[in-house]
Amino acid sequence: MSRIVKEADVAVIGSGPGGATVARQMARAGKKVVLLEWGRDWRNSPFYGTHTGCLMYTDKMGMLLTKERLNIVRGIMTGGSSNLFCGTASRPPAWLRDKYGVNIDAEVSETIDELKIGPLPDKYIGEASKHVLDAALSLGLDWEPYPKFMNPDKCNGGFKCGSVCMLGCSCGAKWTANEYIDQAVLAGCELITGVRVRRVIHDGTNAHRVEGRLYGMTPIEVRARVVVLCASGIGSPRILQQSGFMKAGQGMLMDPTVMVYGAYDGPGTYADPQMSVGSYDDSNGYILSHLMDPWLLYPMIMMLKGPGYALTFPRYKRTLGIMIKVKDEVAGGVFPDGSISKPMTVRDKERLRHAENVCHKILIRAGCNPRTIFTTPLRGTHPSGTVRIGEMLDSNLKLHELNNMYVCDASTFPEALDRPIVLTVIGMGKRLAAHLLKTHFA
Ligand SMILES: Cc1cc2nc3c(=O)[nH]c(=O)nc-3n(C[C@H](O)[C@H](O)[C@H](O)COP(=O)(O)OP(=O)(O)OC[C@H]3O[C@@H](n4cnc5c(N)ncnc54)[C@H](O)[C@@H]3O)c2cc1C
Repeated sequence: MSRIVKEADVAVIGSGPGGATVARQMARAGKKVVLLEWGRDWRNSPFYGTHTGCLMYTDKMGMLLTKERLNIVRGIMTGGSSNLFCGTASRPPAWLRDKYGVNIDAEVSETIDELKIGPLPDKYIGEASKHVLDAALSLGLDWEPYPKFMNPDKCNGGFKCGSVCMLGCSCGAKWTANEYIDQAVLAGCELITGVRVRRVIHDGTNAHRVEGRLYGMTPIEVRARVVVLCASGIGSPRILQQSGFMKAGQGMLMDPTVMVYGAYDGPGTYADPQMSVGSYDDSNGYILSHLMDPWLLYPMIMMLKGPGYALTFPRYKRTLGIMIKVKDEVAGGVFPDGSISKPMTVRDKERLRHAENVCHKILIRAGCNPRTIFTTPLRGTHPSGTVRIGEMLDSNLKLHELNNMYVCDASTFPEALDRPIVLTVIGMGKRLAAHLLKTHFA
């Protein structure tokens, strides 16, 4: 079978927020960029933004499980998991700069201006979400509107999608990394979809080429001066392991997530834009926000908890949902045999219990019947911390062993971010591109 061979200044692997940002910045600076993405671009498919489509572009049709049966959700398509995200933005925590030397303050501020990130206008927050907010505030909790990657002007119907937005935004109101990919391509970047990268060939000092297969068949290689891995918390450690870096994937972070649901006599949170209000409790190690699964996913996820819970579906539209994300400890990992483990440590469980108690109080204050309140099974939407800064990478995101190989995605986090990730990854991508131009292309 003939081999496809490409030459580039920069090979970027993975087109989520990390890869899309690096590719766009480097292409705009006039560099020859080849962007390799395993999935395809689903945006023009009639399935995009539907339950059926979501099954097709999430890993293992949304049923990727760790050994402990924690359900991981990750997008395999152009734009990666930003297609599925809730569009909530958060500045990076100060410790990333103060403890690890990753100062992306300027890049983050620039992105906030560029993408007009800010809280939703009050009229779009939604009745049920405001009801949860009021209940939390009346308990003296520090809840507030969250900034969003959303432009209400682009949504004809005025944000009627509700939780279905997490299946993929079909109206265009939610920013996804596809926008940066389009801009990268416009600036000359070559995007090749359907390429699953397997490994990077190197001599122990420099990376020479990236190898993968197009649609699982045709071998493809990209020879590049610089390689940037952006295949995220699961993809990047796997490629590194196959390239001989066996420390990758030892230990993992996830911001493990549950929802606490309760039914009451009023509109449910499913109908509102998700995660538009909430609170960061850094001292107790978790964040809270309102969140509800899209209607068809609800019974499917509940089946993981038990058939009795799936039978709560008739009260779906009267349910208030509060999401908990716990700042977890490094544990488990992504292993060379393909398995993933993410056990909850004693501290993680304590944090989760603390947060659950708070959610119960909010839901009861909001009028939910205490007998209807329960917690969903654990899931993970932030696979990260598998190629950590300070251990495998320096503060410029360079792999210690090689002069010209970098990683720029959620795998780089040295500690659980425990807050929305995308703005931080974009900031890292912008800073990395500036660094590459200065050190490799001056
Ligand atoms: C349901 C859900 C809700 C979320 N809500 C929010 C939110 O509100 N705010 C927020 O900031 N974050 C949120 N997140 C998290 C956020 O979407 C991700 O953390 C973010 O997309 C990670 O960016 P990344 O660049 O690291 O990787 P990804 O977005 O995962 O992109 C990695 C890309 O690499 C590709 N890839 C993987 N392996 C290979 C390979 N071998 N070869 C080639 N390509 C490969 C994948 O197909 C993918 O396109 C949410 C996530 C989910 C699932």
